[in-house]
Amino acid sequence: MVKKRLSKEKQGLTVLTPENDFRFKCRQDLDCFTRCCRNITIVLTPYDILRMKNALNILSVEFLANYTVSMIGDAGLPVVLLKMNDNDEKNCPFVTRQGCRIYPDRPWTCRIYPLQPESSKITEKAGKQYYSVMDVPFCLGLDADKSLTLAKWIEEQGVPVYQKMEAPFKTITGNEFLGRNKITNRNIQEMFYMACYDLDRFKRFVLESTFLERFEVEPEVVEKIKEDDVELYYFAMRWLEYGLLGQHVLKVKPDVMGGKK
Ligand code: SF4
Ligand code: SF4
Repeated sequence: MVKKRLSKEKQGLTVLTPENDFRFKCRQDLDCFTRCCRNITIVLTPYDILRMKNALNILSVEFLANYTVSMIGDAGLPVVLLKMNDNDEKNCPFVTRQGCRIYPDRPWTCRIYPLQPESSKITEKAGKQYYSVMDVPFCLGLDADKSLTLAKWIEEQGVPVYQKMEAPFKTITGNEFLGRNKITNRNIQEMFYMACYDLDRFKRFVLESTFLERFEVEPEVVEKIKEDDVELYYFAMRWLEYGLLGQHVLKVKPDVMGGKK
C-alpha cells in the first residue's frame, strides 16, 4: 500500500536550511525507477558539460551537437539544455534500464533531485543557498521512512565541487552590468558560448590562434590548460571577466599596445 504523503506544508519543509531534514530514498526496485529521467528540463552549467563530455570521452563540440539544445536567455546570454530523446517518452539520452549511465558525472540538477534551489532577495543577499523539496506525485522515494538533513544530502551527492566550480560562472552571469545591459551582439554571445560550454574549441582558440602573442599569460597557466580541463575552465572564466565585463584580469602585451601587432 502506498502511504499517503504529507504535503510540504505539513512536513514543515517549505524551505530547507542545512540542518532541516526531509524524507527520501531512491531505490532500483521502486515502480517509478527512472521515471524522473523523462521529459524534463535540465539546464546545464559549464562544469556539468565538462564532466559529462569527459565521462563520455568525447569533445565538447560533439557533446553539444548530440546532446544539447541552446537558446538565448533573458540577459542575452546563451543557455544550454540537455536534449531529451525524440520519442514518445522523451527520455534522457543517458538513461538505461539499470539507471543513469553517467551517474558519477550526472548534472547538478540530477544530483540535487528531489530538491530544487529556492532563491529570494534575502537568501541571495545573505549569500546562502536554500532548497525546497519538489512536489513530484509519481516519486515513491518521497514516501520513504528514511530522513536525512539537507547538509548530508548535499555532501552525499557530491554537490560541493559543483558549487565551487559554478561560483565564477555565477559571478559573471550575476554581474550588475549584465543585469542592466542585455547582450545582443552575436559575436559576444558566441564568445560566451565557446568559453563556457565549448571548452575544447576555447582551448584551440587560446593555443592555436594569435591569442598568446597578444596577451600576457603566465607560462605555468599555459602549460596547465593544455592538460587540465578544470584549469582551462578557470582561464575561460578569466577571459570572460576581461572580455565581457572589462575587468583587468588579463594584460595585453606591450608591443600590441604600441600598435606593432
Ligand atoms: S524514487 Fe523518485 S528519484 Fe528515485 S527513481 Fe523513482 S521517481 Fe526517480
Ligand atoms: S543525466 Fe542521468 S540522472 Fe540525469 S536525467 Fe539523465 S539519466 Fe537521469
